[in-house]
Amino acid sequence: MAPITARAAVLHEPGKPMTIEQIELREPGHGEVIVKTASVGICGTDLHFARGLFPFPVPTVLGHEASGVVEHRGPGVTRVQVGDRVLVCDQIPCGQCGSCLSGRMVYCTDTGRKQRQRSRLSLDGDPFRQYLGVSALAERMLLDAAAVIPIPEQISFEAGALLGCCLTTGAATIFNTAAARPGQSVLVMGCGGVGLGAVQAAKATGASCIIAADPEAHRRQAALSLGATDIIDPTSEDLPAAVATITGQFGVDVAVEAVGDPGLAEVAFAALAPGGRAVIVGMMPSDSEIKVSAGLLRHGRSLVGSVMGEVRTLHDIPAYVRMVVGGQLTADELATHRWPLSEINDALDHASARRGIRTMIEF
Ligand SMILES: [Zn+2]
Ligand SMILES: [Zn+2]
Repeated sequence: MAPITARAAVLHEPGKPMTIEQIELREPGHGEVIVKTASVGICGTDLHFARGLFPFPVPTVLGHEASGVVEHRGPGVTRVQVGDRVLVCDQIPCGQCGSCLSGRMVYCTDTGRKQRQRSRLSLDGDPFRQYLGVSALAERMLLDAAAVIPIPEQISFEAGALLGCCLTTGAATIFNTAAARPGQSVLVMGCGGVGLGAVQAAKATGASCIIAADPEAHRRQAALSLGATDIIDPTSEDLPAAVATITGQFGVDVAVEAVGDPGLAEVAFAALAPGGRAVIVGMMPSDSEIKVSAGLLRHGRSLVGSVMGEVRTLHDIPAYVRMVVGGQLTADELATHRWPLSEINDALDHASARRGIRTMIEF
């Protein structure tokens, strides 16, 4: 096989601009595929790593919310064919460890994965660590076959990319971690891609009241058009008081924190009705602390963290794909701005400024 190369946005130093360079991919090994990238969404997680908020060895190539077309298959891959349109998810089950077998595969303990991620990509002959098993800001991705899920023709590459992270995270947070039931009240804090996924999923569960809070007017408007019954501007309204007014003092059954702010996590918990559950899906600095009132905790309220809504990749995402085809979930309204890979630094600035919902890189 001829050497496999790709133009990629390489991060050499957190906080500094990325540079477009040619990287090399090794041949796909057993259980691996090469996917030609079609669309990538800029996720908040990528922005955190680009700024150095969470440490990661550099150089690397960021990006994990992606879609594309299968170009090569390594030995032993039967789930997908060359030419398949696929979405990519960074929650990759090994299918064999205790966590995977218990259905909590976001806590997969496969130790061989990191080793594979260190040998897949190189720059000028020097291997570097692949980011989240994906490194999507490149023309090609070398992936575990379990990271890809075929998508039908009705699903655009953009929708596929969004189903690879934000839309799925929001939906799985409501369906899995919050286990929301019909008639419940739901508060969603933060209406980016994840929050708007949660709003739609809350509507799909038959929530009686869906309150969406975000400082950006255009995001609150998007929440209303996707199913929110009430909106709150936290910059001009006191959030707990506004929630109490809307719910008649009772508080909400489910609160979702999709920002990654410890202070908002405390607000989410304090907004709960007795027996309610606050789910923290936003990524917070790992040394931050969250205070909860023991008095509120006593009445059955819970505060729980969640990695990607505890998605069961190969089980849940195909179901969400069917919901997008069926119209119960929508992805297209979340992709609001598009940039080419060559303008990656402007695209990252644009995503940080929160002027749209999702900033997409088009290949
Ligand atoms: Zn993400
Ligand atoms: Zn596993």
